[in-house]
Formats: sequence, C-alpha cells, structure tokens
Amino acid sequence: MSDAAAPTVDPAVMAQVETRWRQVQRRLERAGGAGVRVVAVTKGHGAWAVEAARRLGLLDVGENYAQELVEKAAAFPPEAGLRWHAIGRLQRNKVRRLAPHVHLWQSVDRLPLGAEIARAAPGAAVLVQVNASGEPQKGGCALAEVEPLVRGLVTLGLDVRGLMAIGPTGPPEDARLPFRRVVALADELGLAERSLGMSADLEVAIEEGATMVRIGSDLFGPRPQRRDPAGSDGRDR
Ligand SMILES: *Cc1c(COP(=O)(O)O)cnc(C)c1O
Repeated sequence: MSDAAAPTVDPAVMAQVETRWRQVQRRLERAGGAGVRVVAVTKGHGAWAVEAARRLGLLDVGENYAQELVEKAAAFPPEAGLRWHAIGRLQRNKVRRLAPHVHLWQSVDRLPLGAEIARAAPGAAVLVQVNASGEPQKGGCALAEVEPLVRGLVTLGLDVRGLMAIGPTGPPEDARLPFRRVVALADELGLAERSLGMSADLEVAIEEGATMVRIGSDLFGPRPQRRDPAGSDGRDR
C-alpha cells in the first residue's frame, strides 16, 4: 500500500462535513443517543468521504455495493483502523470478494447467504436484516422468519450480534412502530445490537432503542445519481 495513493479531502469539503457532523451529534444528543455507534455511509461518494469520516474519528464505514466497498477498502492501509459494514442487498457471488474487508455483515436476510458468508469468513459477525414495514421492495426477512433464521445462522457458526432494519419510505414517524417491533424482537431473542435509523429518522430510531445508526446524506450531502437501478438502496428518492 503506497502512501502516495492515500485519499485526500478538499479542505472546504472537510469543513462542511465537520459542520454536518456537529449537527448530527447535536441531534443524537437531544434524542438521548450520544453513545450510539454511528456508521458513516459513504456509498455513492468517492474515497474522500471515507477519509473525511476517518479524520472525524468515524471509523465505522457503511457501503451498499460490493465493488465500491472493495475499491475504497483497498485505498486505505490497515493502520487506518476502518471497520467496513456491508449494509446493502447482498448477492451470494459477491461474498467471497467482500469477506477479507467486512467487519459486520448487516444485511443478512436468508440462510443461503449466511452459508456463503460462513464459508468465506467462518465465525463472522452478522446482523439479520428485518423487513419490519412489510414493503415488498425492501430487503430483509419477515418478522416471523427472524427467529428460525437466527437459529440457522448460529448453527452455521456465525456470530449473530443483532437486528438491522430500514425505516419505511415516508415521514420519520412512520418508522416508529416498525422499529419498536424490531427492538422487541431483539429483546426477545437476546440480541444486543439494533441497527436502525438513517439521516431522516435517527431520532425515532434512538427513541425506540437503536444501538447503531447509519448516516449518509446528513454527513456527506446528497449522493450523485446512480445509473444502475439494480443497485437501488430500496429508498425511492
Ligand atoms: C443509504 C443507506 C443509509 C444511509 O442513508 P441516508 O439517508 O443517506 O442517511 C443507511 N442504511 C442503508 C441500508 C442505506 O442503504
């Protein structure tokens, strides 16, 4: 890894991200979530966004697309201490390439995917993604399928840390009930980690018991349009 290739951030952009981060911190504090883990979602932005996060001490970085995660991870040396979170819809054929980089697989929603992860990264830490709002276009397994899936993943030797969910499209308040159901289920299953909430609904997520939020646009600004619709993050905006 050559230092010459280390990603840089324009100072003006860095200042802007810093200002946004302070705003996000204030929102987190006000909602009573000063201690929650913040995953900086850099998808759609260049490696500059990862470097900006790193400089702010945000070492948990979330990416949706395998190619982007692998490319960005390769741009940073291990000493950077970044922890990569796979948060997007995962295809089994991408797992092997991702495995050397991923710290936490947040979007495991079916057993065959878990089996592939267990093969490529035995004992890996995973979250089960739950489709708590029941919107068909969203990833995640149905609430009723979570318990058997968790059991299956544990049998595969995976370290199931908790549950992850994406709030429904619409006003933030619409996420409250789905998040509440996910937290109740995590309680029931004895799972500590609850990855809930994004830029728009982080307050609701924290009020309902999130231990981790995933923040993209409120840190790095709007994402450039993506041409590939298959890579959609499931949020129509
Ligand atoms: C894009 C994305 C985020 C971040 O969304 P923002 O609204 O930009 O904060 C969080 N989680 C998942 C799963 C995503 O796809």
